[in-house]
Amino acid sequence: VNPAGPAGDELAERLMRLVRDVPDFPLPGVLFKDIMPLLADGPTLAAVVDHIVGAHRAADFHVVAGIEARGFLLAGPIAYAAGCGVVAIRKAGKLPGRVLSTSYQLEYGEGVLELQRAALAPGQRVLLVDDVLATGGTMAAALALIASAGAVVAGVAVLIELIDLAGRERLPMDVAALLSV
Ligand code: AMP
Repeated sequence: VNPAGPAGDELAERLMRLVRDVPDFPLPGVLFKDIMPLLADGPTLAAVVDHIVGAHRAADFHVVAGIEARGFLLAGPIAYAAGCGVVAIRKAGKLPGRVLSTSYQLEYGEGVLELQRAALAPGQRVLLVDDVLATGGTMAAALALIASAGAVVAGVAVLIELIDLAGRERLPMDVAALLSV
């Protein structure tokens, strides 16, 4: 599922170079994929953003939704490059006003994601973005939130998919990953 063609291969190689593996962070046993060096590299950030916009252009999205917090760092530039707006899917208690909430399983306990009720119009087509797809719980919760707002998920994009955790098998739709490791 790496992007097809030489341009996609080259981009995947740059991601491999610029994403840092951090063992035992934030918990023992987790191999954390640190995308900060990639985000700090201007040409690579631009190439990633352009690639994601190009790959989803035909899906005709009207807005980009980013998942807190690293998803925000991608959603903003993707929305700007695509000429559309951005909405935030946040952890519980961060968004003012009326919100939609969905809880999901974390490794230990439960997480809650929220979306402002007024953020998405019914039928609006959303490109959903995050940095890493691991077990898929976070993405599944975000998809459920968008559905409960009556909006339509036009596409799901992540930088990195952790294949062994089989996140995509938990999701009702395809995920475009720049790098599958
Ligand atoms: P999951 O719900 O298990 O798919 O986890 C995905 C969410 O947790 C994303 O928002 C990621 O930012 C974060 N995450 C999970 N595992 C990792 C990892 N190994 N490296 C970096 N971020 C991760």
